[in-house]
Amino acid sequence: MDEENPPYAECVLCRKPTEHPESVKGVVYCPVCAWQEAQRTACSG
Ligand SMILES: [Zn+2]
Repeated sequence: MDEENPPYAECVLCRKPTEHPESVKGVVYCPVCAWQEAQRTACSG
């Protein structure tokens, strides 16, 4: 019934649905963006 609007928060970067529920506070990333952010932060020392 609500499949068109799953209760998942949008990725702050690409606005795709994430694996996190909307109730999660703060920024959320989809698996792809989360991986990219992890690579960036890993390189920054
Ligand atoms: Zn994303």
